[in-house]
Amino acid sequence: MHEGSCLCGSVAFVVEGEMAPPLACHCHQCRKQSGHHFAASETPRAGLRMMREDGMAWYKASDFASRGFCSRCGSTLFWSRDGSASIHVLMGSLDAPTGLSLAAHMWTSEKGDYYDIDDGLPQIEGDDI
Ligand SMILES: [Zn+2]
Ligand SMILES: [Zn+2]
Repeated sequence: MHEGSCLCGSVAFVVEGEMAPPLACHCHQCRKQSGHHFAASETPRAGLRMMREDGMAWYKASDFASRGFCSRCGSTLFWSRDGSASIHVLMGSLDAPTGLSLAAHMWTSEKGDYYDIDDGLPQIEGDDI
């Protein structure tokens, strides 16, 4: 079980069951929203239990997905594909220890020009993992 929350605590949740190895996303949208690149773990939606959500807000960033964040402190929390049985939980929202390790980088074709990816993990130009 993993516990997570936003920076101010207005959103708190528990993830039950195994979480998939997280992926770092370097796409334009993730970089704009997070301020750098972001990393998230895909998990079954049924395993996500919201403990507090009075700050919870959603932004529909594309015609197929929404981005969950805290409307009070701005923390990025979830990425949700419309109609999917799973939800992506942002790694930074989880309390340590997560026990998880980054598996790969995606959308490297859109990465920023101010950093290098040199950790030896697989790099995927798009999202076709
Ligand atoms: Zn917050
Ligand atoms: Zn992305």
